[in-house]
Amino acid sequence: MAQFTDRHGTQHPLPAPDAAAQVRGDDRAHVFHSWSAQALIDPLPVAAGEGSTFWDYDGNAYLDFSSQLVNLNLGHQHPDLIAAIQQQAGRLATIQPAVANDVRGELARLISEVAPDGLEKVFFTNGGAEANEYAVRMARQVTGRRKVLSMYRSYHGSTSTAISLTGDPRRWANEVSDAGAVRFFGPYLYRSPFHSTTLAEESQRALEHLEQTILLEGPATIAAIIIETVVGTNGVLVPPPGYLQGVRELCDRHGIVYIADEVMVGFGRLGEWFGIDAYDGRPDLITFAKGINSGYVPLGGVVISDAIAGRFDKTPFPGGLTYSGHPLACAAGVATFEVFRRDGILERVRDLGERVVEPTLRGWVDKHPSVGEVRGRGLFWAVELVRDRETREPLVPFNASGADAAPMGAFTAAAKEGGVWPFTHFNRMHVAPPLVISETDLVRGLAVLDDALSVADGY
Ligand code: PLP
Repeated sequence: MAQFTDRHGTQHPLPAPDAAAQVRGDDRAHVFHSWSAQALIDPLPVAAGEGSTFWDYDGNAYLDFSSQLVNLNLGHQHPDLIAAIQQQAGRLATIQPAVANDVRGELARLISEVAPDGLEKVFFTNGGAEANEYAVRMARQVTGRRKVLSMYRSYHGSTSTAISLTGDPRRWANEVSDAGAVRFFGPYLYRSPFHSTTLAEESQRALEHLEQTILLEGPATIAAIIIETVVGTNGVLVPPPGYLQGVRELCDRHGIVYIADEVMVGFGRLGEWFGIDAYDGRPDLITFAKGINSGYVPLGGVVISDAIAGRFDKTPFPGGLTYSGHPLACAAGVATFEVFRRDGILERVRDLGERVVEPTLRGWVDKHPSVGEVRGRGLFWAVELVRDRETREPLVPFNASGADAAPMGAFTAAAKEGGVWPFTHFNRMHVAPPLVISETDLVRGLAVLDDALSVADGY
């Protein structure tokens, strides 16, 4: 029987390899997968995980450089999170949102203590899309306005309003669902929509463009602007200096609510509690999910400014969910705070990002002709792959599928063959391992990706 050794040196048997056939069979016959043509996929049957590694049923190990959709900040099977969930389940497995509950309140307090000043209250949801739905609902309620501005290159989730606000192709089949969605271009110097040549120019021009959009849409019709603090799936687009502060000022000038979507970057990914701590500009609402408890039990939420929360002191807030602030999820969230503080997670993210990831990735620009640009912060990086460095032609066309996407497919296959599970999207590879990854594993995984890039170089 195949075995794997966990970080404590304990050997675990894996299920028999022939169990994979059963898992695959049930999956193919009965599981309807998200974002997929059902007949064209063949998902890997995964048997077990530990820290930054997971295993398939044949005992093949994969270093998880995706953190399972940039979610598993504390890695697979973290003993503290598991213990907290088990303990809570033994005491009070669930309780509805209308009562006061100890772990729910404690987690809300812990979140508010690390949130920017003046954001004291937390509305809990079951994930990131719902958090954005509710943030938008709050903004619409307090402003009495309907429109919401979002970036073309953005992802805000798959529920009705969240997918309408999303700026990438995933919205195309869904976008009539929220008529108030208006999009604008955000800063992206490498492929600047404004033909800028410096970060300062890109920041200024992107703000001028946003202001034009606001004026032409009619400021009195705009409830909110929603922005990922660092754009995630659409390219790890780090905001240039001054940009987010400029957004804050535009929102102040026009009475618009500024929503920071921190579903991907919140809770450690950038080496900060909230991504906005690394930048300027204070949002009115911050949405979060994923890293709050590494997704061990679904949890998300909205951190709310005192001004907005106060508007609902005497007027009921119209919205809520049966599982809002689920005790099992909150217990895992409280344990997450304890682990972050005890193990210095934020410090290690900054250290590994600056000392290991950034220099290695910057070195790839000289070494690999397929690497057009690298960008990121903490343990959140993108490598943008191109066919031609001069023209910046992407390695695969925007939104490529099938044969057009083959070069990225070949790169991904080479990484997996080397034992790394990468996160790829369009022409980019993102580096987003669990924040608890050991330095040895990080270096080993980067070496595998380095080798796999020679496949991309060949196109
Ligand atoms: N917002 C951002 C920035 C995200 O990256 C995601 C998911 O990847 C979401 C929202 C949606 O979160 P969920 O899938 O938990 O609904």
